[in-house]
Amino acid sequence: MPALPRRGALRLLPAILIPLFVRPGRAEDSRLSEIWRCGGGDCPGYEYHPRDGDPEHGAPAGTAFQDLPADWFCPRCGAGKPDFRRMGD
Ligand SMILES: [Zn+2]
Repeated sequence: MPALPRRGALRLLPAILIPLFVRPGRAEDSRLSEIWRCGGGDCPGYEYHPRDGDPEHGAPAGTAFQDLPADWFCPRCGAGKPDFRRMGD
């Protein structure tokens, strides 16, 4: 009866796969809801939203501020990452 073991394995499959997909999503959620505001002196007030990213400057949507390249800079005034402050801190 080769069919029985296969059916049992299929029933277990979702229990194995679902945690694989859910875990990484949860870990990233808090960082993706952060808003980072540029503190450059001449800046009109650029805000970085991780869910939107900055696709024109090498940061696809969904890129956490912490994961931006070290040489990323404010597209409005050119200030570097250290000049940004996290909103709500
Ligand atoms: Zn700026």
